[in-house]
Amino acid sequence: MKTRALELGFLRARIYAPAPFGGSMLLVALAVQSSEEGAAPAGFAEIAGFARKNYYHEAVIRLKQLASEIRKTKGASKAEYRIFCNSFINPLGFINEKTLAADCGLGLIGKNNLLFTPEAGSNVVLAALALPFELKGDAPLSKQNFLSCAECAGRYCVQACPTGALAIDGTLKKERCLQWYLSGHENHVPEDIVKLWGRRLYGCMECQRWCPHNKKSISTIDSKIGSLPRFIDAAELLAQTDDEIKIRFKRTALGLSWLGPSALRRSAKISLQN
Ligand code: SF4
Ligand code: SF4
Repeated sequence: MKTRALELGFLRARIYAPAPFGGSMLLVALAVQSSEEGAAPAGFAEIAGFARKNYYHEAVIRLKQLASEIRKTKGASKAEYRIFCNSFINPLGFINEKTLAADCGLGLIGKNNLLFTPEAGSNVVLAALALPFELKGDAPLSKQNFLSCAECAGRYCVQACPTGALAIDGTLKKERCLQWYLSGHENHVPEDIVKLWGRRLYGCMECQRWCPHNKKSISTIDSKIGSLPRFIDAAELLAQTDDEIKIRFKRTALGLSWLGPSALRRSAKISLQN
């Protein structure tokens, strides 16, 4: 099953057992576009690489195919092969894919609270497929396989964070984190955060960009789902209605219901200010 997952384009696959809802789970990582140098030109706002294709949807499609293949030999109803991705897809229950992924050796959780795979660092999206039967679970990775965060001591991620959101002990102050606001949280953005916002429409990757785990060159999957340009004309976006924005980003990573037009409009407005 893990081999088949790799054939379907996943970078890494592990089994977690026993699973929270019984049976076992296949945890997978899909490689995504890493961060790039250079800011958006004046008047434009940037979409980070991980959101420029709908990698979440891509992971779900690939897991659906795998589930259908497994069902042919193992049986059980379609509903028993539940898929979890970004923990929003499945209404039947919330799971923390990151914690489960670390527990079964898909990667290690770094000081910047992200899961690092040996092959692609944190340039991955995670997804999981619930399996209605027991399999032997995989063991967590040995820390010896990695440059430890203790050794690095936040030299890159903590120091690279423009807002001081990451503490040296790995604690994240979400009220200081750009990604928190870019995801549409809070009605008010503090003035000092506005000044450090840059020209971001969605995605802050500073704490990932300089991490040694993310220096490997990786090939991402060839996905056509939800392709978006790197830079978007901020004024043009601000001139659009909610419905027009919804249509524009439908089926893309920016079209997720929890993000919404008002969050994108706020990001575009701040980008123009900067
Ligand atoms: S920059 Fe250093 S401390 Fe931060 S996540 Fe990477 S290895 Fe860990
Ligand atoms: S996402 Fe950005 S603001 Fe948040 S901790 Fe990382 S570097 Fe800091």
